Amino acid sequence: MGAQRMSTGEVKAGRLSCKEVWREISNYLDEEITGDLAARMEEHFKGCKRCTAILDGTRNLMRLVGEDAVLELPQCPNGRAQEDLQRRKH
Ligand SMILES: [Zn+2]
Repeated sequence: MGAQRMSTGEVKAGRLSCKEVWREISNYLDEEITGDLAARMEEHFKGCKRCTAILDGTRNLMRLVGEDAVLELPQCPNGRAQEDLQRRKH
Protein backbone atom coordinates (compact mmCIF):
# COMPACT_ATOMS: atom_id res chain seq x y z
CA MET A 1 0.00 0.00 0.00
CA GLY A 2 1.05 3.59 -0.38
CA ALA A 3 2.32 5.71 -3.19
CA GLN A 4 3.34 3.53 -6.04
CA ARG A 5 4.64 5.00 -9.23
CA MET A 6 2.18 3.34 -11.55
CA SER A 7 1.63 5.59 -14.48
CA THR A 8 -0.36 3.41 -16.83
CA GLY A 9 -3.65 3.87 -15.02
CA GLU A 10 -4.80 0.74 -16.76
CA VAL A 11 -4.04 -1.79 -14.07
CA LYS A 12 -5.23 -0.39 -10.79
CA ALA A 13 -3.81 -2.93 -8.41
CA GLY A 14 -0.63 -3.54 -10.31
CA ARG A 15 0.24 -6.25 -12.73
CA LEU A 16 0.90 -9.70 -11.39
CA SER A 17 4.28 -11.11 -12.17
CA CYS A 18 4.59 -14.64 -13.49
CA LYS A 19 6.04 -15.76 -10.16
CA GLU A 20 3.04 -14.42 -8.30
CA VAL A 21 0.74 -16.22 -10.71
CA TRP A 22 2.63 -19.50 -10.26
CA ARG A 23 2.48 -19.15 -6.49
CA GLU A 24 -1.30 -18.78 -6.55
CA ILE A 25 -2.08 -21.11 -9.40
CA SER A 26 -3.17 -24.08 -7.28
CA ASN A 27 -5.26 -21.77 -5.10
CA TYR A 28 -6.75 -20.31 -8.24
CA LEU A 29 -7.77 -23.75 -9.46
CA ASP A 30 -9.13 -24.59 -6.02
CA GLU A 31 -11.01 -21.29 -6.06
CA GLU A 32 -9.38 -20.37 -2.76
CA ILE A 33 -8.49 -16.84 -3.79
CA THR A 34 -10.57 -13.71 -3.94
CA GLY A 35 -12.46 -12.83 -7.08
CA ASP A 36 -10.27 -9.78 -7.44
CA LEU A 37 -7.09 -11.79 -7.52
CA ALA A 38 -8.68 -14.37 -9.81
CA ALA A 39 -9.62 -11.61 -12.22
CA ARG A 40 -6.07 -10.28 -12.19
CA MET A 41 -4.72 -13.75 -12.85
CA GLU A 42 -7.13 -14.24 -15.73
CA GLU A 43 -5.91 -10.94 -17.09
CA HIS A 44 -2.36 -12.22 -16.85
CA PHE A 45 -3.22 -15.50 -18.58
CA LYS A 46 -4.62 -13.57 -21.52
CA GLY A 47 -1.27 -12.00 -22.15
CA CYS A 48 1.09 -14.75 -21.04
CA LYS A 49 1.25 -18.03 -22.90
CA ARG A 50 3.78 -19.44 -20.48
CA CYS A 51 1.44 -19.07 -17.52
CA THR A 52 -1.50 -20.36 -19.56
CA ALA A 53 0.50 -23.50 -20.33
CA ILE A 54 1.37 -23.89 -16.66
CA LEU A 55 -2.27 -23.37 -15.74
CA ASP A 56 -3.35 -26.12 -18.13
CA GLY A 57 -0.64 -28.44 -16.92
CA THR A 58 -1.47 -27.84 -13.28
CA ARG A 59 -5.16 -28.34 -13.94
CA ASN A 60 -4.48 -31.66 -15.63
CA LEU A 61 -2.18 -32.71 -12.82
CA MET A 62 -4.78 -31.87 -10.19
CA ARG A 63 -7.35 -33.86 -12.10
CA LEU A 64 -5.01 -36.81 -12.15
CA VAL A 65 -4.09 -36.79 -8.49
CA GLY A 66 -7.54 -35.94 -7.21
CA GLU A 67 -9.03 -33.23 -5.11
CA ASP A 68 -7.38 -33.99 -1.82
CA ALA A 69 -3.87 -34.41 -3.07
CA VAL A 70 -1.22 -31.89 -2.30
CA LEU A 71 0.42 -30.36 -5.30
CA GLU A 72 3.61 -32.35 -5.10
CA LEU A 73 4.95 -34.67 -7.69
CA PRO A 74 5.55 -38.08 -6.19
CA GLN A 75 9.18 -38.96 -6.09
CA CYS A 76 9.99 -42.15 -7.89
CA PRO A 77 11.88 -44.33 -5.42
CA ASN A 78 13.80 -45.93 -8.26
CA GLY A 79 14.76 -42.63 -9.79
CA ARG A 80 18.38 -42.79 -8.68
CA ALA A 81 18.85 -46.37 -9.75
CA GLN A 82 17.52 -45.53 -13.17
CA GLU A 83 19.87 -42.61 -13.39
CA ASP A 84 22.77 -44.91 -12.56
CA LEU A 85 21.72 -47.34 -15.24
CA GLN A 86 21.51 -44.60 -17.81
CA ARG A 87 24.91 -43.35 -16.84
CA ARG A 88 26.37 -46.84 -17.24
CA LYS A 89 24.99 -47.11 -20.76
CA HIS A 90 27.03 -44.17 -21.91
ZN1 LIG B 1 3.09 -15.09 -16.86
